[in-house]
Amino acid sequence: MTQEVVIVGGGTGGSVLANDLADRFASEIDAGDVRVTLVNDSEDHVYKPVWLYVPFGKREPSDGRRPLRDLVDSRVDVVVDRVTDIDTDAQRLTYRDGGGPGRYDKLVLATGSTLAPDEIPGLAEGGHNYYTEEGALALQDELLSFTEGHLVLSVIGSPHMCPAAPLEFVFMADDWFRKRGLREDIDITYTYPIQRVHGNPHIAEWAAPLMEERDINVETFFNAEEIDAENGVMTSMEGGELDYDLLVAIPPHRGIDLVEEAGLGDRGWVEVDKGTLEAVHADNVYALGDTADTGVPKAGSVAHYQAGVVAQRIASELRDRPATEVYHGKTVCFIETGMDAASYVEFDYETPPSPPSPSKKLHWAKLAYNESYWLTARGLL
Ligand SMILES: Cc1cc2nc3c(=O)[nH]c(=O)nc-3n(C[C@H](O)[C@H](O)[C@H](O)COP(=O)(O)OP(=O)(O)OC[C@H]3O[C@@H](n4cnc5c(N)ncnc54)[C@H](O)[C@@H]3O)c2cc1C
Repeated sequence: MTQEVVIVGGGTGGSVLANDLADRFASEIDAGDVRVTLVNDSEDHVYKPVWLYVPFGKREPSDGRRPLRDLVDSRVDVVVDRVTDIDTDAQRLTYRDGGGPGRYDKLVLATGSTLAPDEIPGLAEGGHNYYTEEGALALQDELLSFTEGHLVLSVIGSPHMCPAAPLEFVFMADDWFRKRGLREDIDITYTYPIQRVHGNPHIAEWAAPLMEERDINVETFFNAEEIDAENGVMTSMEGGELDYDLLVAIPPHRGIDLVEEAGLGDRGWVEVDKGTLEAVHADNVYALGDTADTGVPKAGSVAHYQAGVVAQRIASELRDRPATEVYHGKTVCFIETGMDAASYVEFDYETPPSPPSPSKKLHWAKLAYNESYWLTARGLL
């Protein structure tokens, strides 16, 4: 019988994994012994890092979209459908439109993050964000007409996608307004839910003096409780109050409901072994990328590295060999520190990050990576 490998989610992790498996199983797929199916709920693959540049008019959302089928090896069955139920005992899946294989031998969940603005009263009405295509475009309109007042960037809840992106946004906004001669009339405040400016203490230690240098106000231990959109006021669980003219908020995140319904983890994040990426509560289920609860940042680089681990493990298991590859927490990330300078971090479970001084070279490296991302998605980089 054909061995069914089903990957749910055709974002960064799912696409890299599908291409890797197509390569490893080329002859078995051709012989009909193995089938690799990639299920995604839209025709397009979306590269979210582009959205950071949209509010500043540097990129358009369409720059971050490509047809998924163009990125994936032709040996992979691409199914455009949404998985609506997982029965981990029977190893069966249910689909919204009945599209994909019902049975799986190996299941990989690569379903990413979902935004949950409704968890904070008033946030949907009062806050902008660049964590969706529509949000980034709407924020572009707001920023272009914003010439004076108080801009607040508030990180609401953690974990969230790309922990560096809120820092990047305020550094870029500061520089963008300065270059346009508007900075003196615009105050910028950054709020963060814990007692420092970033979840990772080493990155926080590096970022805090840069923020001070640039006159970016910081409010730490600020957990937004409610937004009064009409009067432009945020209140925090700690009793703080902040007036704003333009609120850019990173909304609370969760995984997808069916993960919780299948008993695989809380808030839609799959509980996994941090090394093997196997689900803790089911056999023959892996998770990678944002949905895998590993404690490392929710970043595309993480999804990419984890895909290589899962591919090796699944290939070994289907060939009755020991699976040896383990994820060691590798994360890399460029951090924009203005419109034309950036830093860079690389770390893992054991080694902390140590960001170098910002440089133009690193900014250009980030832009070059964004262009070459499409090779990564194809599994070529
Ligand atoms: C503004 C912004 C900037 C960022 N910048 C960076 C950066 O510079 N560097 C970096 O490394 N990361 C960055 N990230 C984070 C990065 O985009 C994510 O961490 C990455 O996309 C996660 O990959 P993934 O494969 O886990 O999920 P995703 O790429 O989100 O893919 C998940 C896919 O699964 C699909 N799906 C979900 N549920 C179902 C279902 N039930 N059935 C079928 N399909 C389903 C979704 O529609 C989606 O296509 C950024 C994110 C944002 C928002």
